[in-house]
This record gives sequence, structure tokens and C-alpha cells, in this order.
Amino acid sequence: MLLDVVVRWRRLLVAVGVLWCCRPASTPTPPPSRDAASPDPDGGVTLPAALERGVEAGLSPTVLEQSLAELVALPRMLGHPERGASIDALVRRLEQAGATHIERDPIAGNDPHTGDAFALVSIYAHFRPDATQRFVLGTHFDTRPWADEDPDPAAHSRPVPGANDGTSGLAVVLALAPILDRRLAPDVGFSIALFDGEELGRPATGGYCAGSRALAARPDDPDAIGHRLRQAELGIVLDMVGDADLRVSPEPSSLQHHTELVDTLWAMARAQGSTAFDRTPRARSIIDDHTFLTEAGVPSILVIDYEYDAWHTEADTLARTSGESLSIVAEAVLSTLLQRYGLTNAASTPEAPSSAATDA
Ligand SMILES: [Zn+2]
Repeated sequence: MLLDVVVRWRRLLVAVGVLWCCRPASTPTPPPSRDAASPDPDGGVTLPAALERGVEAGLSPTVLEQSLAELVALPRMLGHPERGASIDALVRRLEQAGATHIERDPIAGNDPHTGDAFALVSIYAHFRPDATQRFVLGTHFDTRPWADEDPDPAAHSRPVPGANDGTSGLAVVLALAPILDRRLAPDVGFSIALFDGEELGRPATGGYCAGSRALAARPDDPDAIGHRLRQAELGIVLDMVGDADLRVSPEPSSLQHHTELVDTLWAMARAQGSTAFDRTPRARSIIDDHTFLTEAGVPSILVIDYEYDAWHTEADTLARTSGESLSIVAEAVLSTLLQRYGLTNAASTPEAPSSAATDA
């Protein structure tokens, strides 16, 4: 019975051209390879040395793989009794990264299937809080309590390990924060958004993205939690970026919000030697935290590897991830943001990527 409802709901979503966050495509695609010597079909962007891969040791595959393992060991599952201590640990990491203002955004959430209540807390960490030009780098940090896509029905009431879904984006964002604080032009500010409750949804009823949804639903005023976040001109949200078989395609709603930013990020990844970033857009949009960050007033893009067959199963473990994938994404995001905000010498700015043709 429930399966029928799920199938009918998905047909409806497909009919309207939208998929819920993290829903994997049904057609498997061959894993990409990374070959630094490959020609760049986007037109051969040449990077200045400051934007090449490997400048930042903190973004190496080894370091990010270690960080991912440490974060997976930090319980963040909705309803876990040690969750509060894990959130405190994440706040300390952000303080150590250089955040000067950190907000906790408490949100009441409910499992739309059982009605069970969950206390959610999104975290917004602000760097250079007085800067008027700013951006948001976001991800969700909660992991799913139900492995309801697992082929074993007995697993449907057990939690997802969440190495990729709920932790990979966190590892990349936490690694980037101190580097951005050190390397960005001093008059540029940014905020790290760690959204809670992204997983508090059910296929039959929706309800995902509870944290970012609550932010968007709240009237904005200078004293409201999240106001500084909402002053940003753009957002980049990462989700499921650690798949060992990384394949990232532009998400259609992201292209609507920031075509040039998507083009730059994909061109940067390819210029750094990655073939995991495929410029062919996905056919359908995805609802994820970028959807509600955009509704909150920050036009945002989503960077997600949607082709992940361990999605919402007990197989979403470290064994399915790779430090190399995390590093590819982290380096592409860093170079995109530095190119946009941090490099003031025009002579060292890379040639305009393919956005020129797209924007025309
Ligand atoms: Zn998920």
C-alpha cells in the first residue's frame, strides 16, 4: 500500500518536473575518470597558479578523507542522544576556522509519516560580518534515521550511515572555511550555513529540508536569526559530493538562479583536470536546501552528485566515498570563489569560461 503511494507520488513529481533532494536517477552512468592531461572541451581555460589544484594542503584527498572519517564518527542522526554534543563540536570547528559570529537557529520539526517531534538546530557562522558583499556556502549536516531505500526491508527503520549524504558536504565546507577566511579579499564576507533537518522528509509526503524551509518561511528583519545570511548575494550548497564514482551535472534551477556561477564552477573543475564535472544539465530540477535558501532571498546553486546508488541505504558508508572526489569539489568551489571575489589583478584572472555564450 505504502509502496503504491510512493510510486504515485514520484510519478506526480516527475510529471511536474521536480525531484526531491537526493533522489538518485534510475539510469546508472559509467564512472568518470580524472585525467589531468585531458583536453578541456569547454574551451581550454588556463588557470593562474593561485587557482590550480594543490595550492592548499588542507584540500588534499588525504586530509579530506581523514576529516570525513572523523565527521562520520560524530553522531548527527536526527533523534540521536549525542547529537547536541556533535553540534557543539561543529560550532567549535567553525570558531577555530575564524567565524566571529555564530547563530544557532532552533526549529521544531516533525516526521511527516509518524508525527514524531524532532528538535532541529541549523548553524550559521559568519566571517567578516560587517562586509556588505557576501556569499553563503552551505550544506546539511543531519543524517537520515531511516534507510528507507535499502533493498532489505529490515533496514528501513535503521539509520543511514550518511558518509556521503550528510557528511561529505560538511567535510568540504569545514575545510574551505579557514582557507576562504585567509585568502579572500578583506572586504568580502561570507557565511557558512549548516542546515539541519534536510532529511526530515518522507517520499510519500515530502517535508524535506526542514531547516532551510523554516528560514525561508520566517519574515526577515535586522534582528531576526539568519538576517546576515540573507544579506548574501549568492549561495553555493553542497550535497553528496563524496561518491568515489563522482559525476556532477548542473541542476536546472541552479542554472536559472546563477548561470554564470555554474558555468564558472564547472569550467574551473575542468581546468583543474577533472572530468567528473559534466556540463550537460540534468533534465529535472532537484529540491534541496538551495531551493529554500533562494526563497529566503539568496539566489543559490546546488552542487550534487545525483548518481549515487547507495542513497538512503545502509551502504552509504566510507567505503563508497573517496578523498579524491571531495578534493575535486573543494578545489573547484575555492577557485570559483577566489576568481569571483579574491583575485583583484585582472592579468591573473582566467579567461571568461563558456558562460559568455550561455548568457548571450
Ligand atoms: Zn538524503
